[in-house]
Amino acid sequence: MEKIKMTTPLVEMDGDEMTRVLWKIIKEELIYPYIDLKSEYYDLGLEHRNETNDQVTIDSANANKKYGVAVKCATITPNAARVKEYNLKEMWKSPNGTIRAILDGTVFRAPITVKGIEPYVRCWKKPITIARHAYGDVYKNTEMIVDGPGKAELVFTGEDGTTKRETIFDFRGPGVLQGMHNLDRSIESFARSCFNYALDTKQDLWFATKDTISKKYDHTFKDIFQEIFEKEYQEKFGEAGITYFYTLIDDAVARVMKSEGGFIWACKNYDGDVMSDMISSAFGSLAMMTSVLVSPDGNYEYEAAHGTVQRHYYKYLKGEETSTNSVATIFAWTGALRKRGELDGISELCQFADRMEQAVITTIESGKMTKDLALITSLKDVTVLNSEDFIKAVRATYDCCGSQTSL
Ligand code: NAP
Ligand code: MG
Repeated sequence: MEKIKMTTPLVEMDGDEMTRVLWKIIKEELIYPYIDLKSEYYDLGLEHRNETNDQVTIDSANANKKYGVAVKCATITPNAARVKEYNLKEMWKSPNGTIRAILDGTVFRAPITVKGIEPYVRCWKKPITIARHAYGDVYKNTEMIVDGPGKAELVFTGEDGTTKRETIFDFRGPGVLQGMHNLDRSIESFARSCFNYALDTKQDLWFATKDTISKKYDHTFKDIFQEIFEKEYQEKFGEAGITYFYTLIDDAVARVMKSEGGFIWACKNYDGDVMSDMISSAFGSLAMMTSVLVSPDGNYEYEAAHGTVQRHYYKYLKGEETSTNSVATIFAWTGALRKRGELDGISELCQFADRMEQAVITTIESGKMTKDLALITSLKDVTVLNSEDFIKAVRATYDCCGSQTSL
């Protein structure tokens, strides 16, 4: 069989630990045999980030801007333990944070649903998509340890030299302090990406913040969404038969639990981080969640929503067998290849992505799965496969039925 040819390189961002191990197997088993892969490779593994003083992360994000589509492996965000473990020159920032700061935009995360993995929340019948604002707030913060008594102030100095000043707190003893920001421009593009995505997928859009407590910061988010909705989208939503509604974040959480799903839930950066893990776990598994960053100027970065699965990696290093779920990472590849196909007009690439995703689902529904899914499935007679054998089983499904239009 002839391999599918590509015209524009896909930006490939390799990562760390167990997901780096899966990455290599996925390429060898599910990509190289079928596609003449054209990729521009960036090694975002922690050692290489350290060697390049994190320049490689910035270069990869700029390549994403240049070519439009990237696929990213999970990466370690260093903490004190990692600085020691990898003997780092510095506690490098979160690569996702760096990439999102360069690209801006919104992260859309949706569960991959399969028969036999029922959501823990009984009333959920349809997937819930989280739209996570991917710029600013706590991910671009400045923090300080306060050692003792003193006054903390918020000061803004305008270009003309005028200042605005607010007291944050009069410290009587040690404590902590944090400053963060966001931009109208970024919030506006967040709002537009959400409204467009809702129209594209014909789903209602919910948005929630804590504007009753954060009367200026969060309230600005609420106001910008409302203004853009009324000016640019209200009519289109009416025609499409979908709705937009705003509520408080705590009310949203309560409503989500009682809903039947099938909508997009727009969240600020931190809320989206936390709520997407909640949603994916409640739908079954962190490893059954797709994630794509969509920038306002039309660049896409596909990734898995979970981390590097460190605990499994340490077992792997000891030579023990692992059963790590590669579904989200496979879907990151298929998502990116499909988008590349759409942008370059290569329909074979889009078909490949559809068929490979279907092969993954068929494999699981036939009872072959990794341990995390085996623990929660309602299917009988399941076979628990190790990390590598699951990917090989997907390849076997694809080879057996993938060349047909439907599996
Ligand atoms: P994690 O890698 O998502 O893993 C947390 C736990 O969830 C695992 O220990 C495992 O549970 C389960 N899990 C997650 N993905 C799985 C998969 N594919 N298959 C099977 N089980 C899976 O999160 P973490 O342990 O908090 O973080 C590890 C590293 O990842 C950290 O260094 C963090 O900085 C990084 N991280 C990166 C990203 C990213 O690049 N997008 C996102 C989050 C975290 P059991 O151990 O019980 O099997
Ligand atoms: Mg998270």
